[in-house]
Amino acid sequence: MSSFEGLPDTRTSLVGRTDEGDEAWLIRSISQKLYRCPGCHGEIPIGADHVVVQYVHRIGGTEHHHWHRNCAEAVLVGRLAAIRTVPAGESQRGKLESRGRRPAGRRRRL
Ligand SMILES: [Zn+2]
Repeated sequence: MSSFEGLPDTRTSLVGRTDEGDEAWLIRSISQKLYRCPGCHGEIPIGADHVVVQYVHRIGGTEHHHWHRNCAEAVLVGRLAAIRTVPAGESQRGKLESRGRRPAGRRRRL
């Protein structure tokens, strides 16, 4: 059991670094449509509490995926280096897209 059990939630997001050096932001969301989870390839139904994983790439640019909460906890969280909690406001889509407009070396440090 990780210390991040139950996170992200409405007030708290997570951020860590992938093996490739990209930022991975984990944000709690409610699905507005049907998604397919990259962790298990199963469906995430409409209205489900789940996790958006927003990558901010080291070289710039962003990309996001929708994960089941359990899959994110079981598969993703353990793979990220330097993972920590941040206030959910820090992980707003617009802020992360703005981070992605610069390469990692020219961003505010996490
Ligand atoms: Zn899944």
